[in-house]
Amino acid sequence: MTKHFVFSADGHIVEPNDLFLERLPASMKSQAIHTVRRDDFHMTVAGDKVLLRRRLNVGWTPDNATTLRGEASRKPLGNNNIEGRLKDMADEGVDAEIVFPSLGLWTFGLEDPEVELATCQIYNDWNNGFFAGHTHVFVRCAVLPVRRLDNALSELKRVAKMGFTAAMLPSVTPAGVTPYNDAAWDELFHAAGELGVVFVLHTGTGNETVTSQKGAGGAVMNYTMQMCDGQMAVLALTAGGVLDRNPKARIAIIESGASWLAALAERMDEVYTAHAIFVKPKLTRMPGQIVRDQVAASFQYDRACIMSRSVTGTKALLWGSDYPHAEGTFPHTPDVLAHLFDGIDISEQEKADIIGGNAARLFRLPGAA
Ligand code: MN
Repeated sequence: MTKHFVFSADGHIVEPNDLFLERLPASMKSQAIHTVRRDDFHMTVAGDKVLLRRRLNVGWTPDNATTLRGEASRKPLGNNNIEGRLKDMADEGVDAEIVFPSLGLWTFGLEDPEVELATCQIYNDWNNGFFAGHTHVFVRCAVLPVRRLDNALSELKRVAKMGFTAAMLPSVTPAGVTPYNDAAWDELFHAAGELGVVFVLHTGTGNETVTSQKGAGGAVMNYTMQMCDGQMAVLALTAGGVLDRNPKARIAIIESGASWLAALAERMDEVYTAHAIFVKPKLTRMPGQIVRDQVAASFQYDRACIMSRSVTGTKALLWGSDYPHAEGTFPHTPDVLAHLFDGIDISEQEKADIIGGNAARLFRLPGAA
C-alpha cells in the first residue's frame, strides 16, 4: 500500500496523578479523581467512589511487555510526555492523532455538578497547556460536564474560544443525566455545530462500571457491550431528533468499532417506514441519511466496517490506534495497517480517507482541508 497520511482517531494521554488533587479548591479535594493501588488492585477513585478497578495479578500490568492479546509488546514511551509520544508515532507510522484523557474519562462519574464542572475545567486547561505548540500534530479534545446542560454549554463556548475542535460527552448518559433523545440537548448541539466542535463519545464513558459482567464470558461481554453503548447513543440522538434539528452538529463514536453503524442505519430506516404511524418526532431526513451526514465511528481492527461502507459512506469511518492501551494496535500498527484492506476492493483515495483523511478533516487538524 502506498504510504498515506495516518491520523489516529483514538489516543490517550495520562494526566499527572495529582492534577485534580492539587488544583481543585479545598472544598472539593475529597472528590478529586486519581489512581491508587490497594491490595491487588489498581483503582481510579473519586472520594469513596470507585470508578475503575483492575486486578493486578492476572499476568499483565500497564508496565510489562505483553499486550492483552498475549503478543510481544514494549512499554510505550509517550504515556505522559510529548517527546516519547512523537518517537512512538514515528516508529508506528502515525503522523497525527486526537488525544483523549485517562483520568478525565471518569468525570462523568462525578455526581456533584459543581465538582464535575471544576474537574472538566482543570482538565481542559491542563490539556490546552500540555499540547501548546504541538497542535499541528495533536488535536486537543475537551471534556464537558453533563450534570447540568447550562454548565456544558458555558464550558463548550470557553474551550471553543481556546481553539478546541472536539469535546467529550459520555457514551452512556448516567442516571440523573438527560437522555440523548431529549430536546433539552438541542441548545448544546446547535452551539457545537455553529462553533465547529465535534462531540466525541468514547467507549466506556458514563457507565457505572465497565466490568459489570463477572461470570463466564465476562471479559468478552464487558468490552463488547461498550460497542452497544455507542449504538444506543447514535440511536437516541438520531431517532429522538437532536441530530436532525441540528444538522451542523457532528458526533464521533470512538473505540466502539464501526461495522454496526451500517446495520443501525438500515434498521432505523426500516422501522421509520414500517411503523410510520407511531413515529414521533417526524424527521426531515431518513435516519440513515442523518447517520451518513453527521455520525462517524472509529475502529482498530473492525474490517467489516470497510466492507459495509456503501451503507454508511466512507466518510463515517475513522481508523484509530487507541495508543497506548493494550487492546489497541501499539506496537504493531504498521502490521495492522498493512493488512487492513486485504481482500477488499477499494480505491487508494478511500484507503487514505479511512486511515487519516476523514479524521483529520473532521477534527480540523491544521492543513487537513
Ligand atoms: Mn481509546
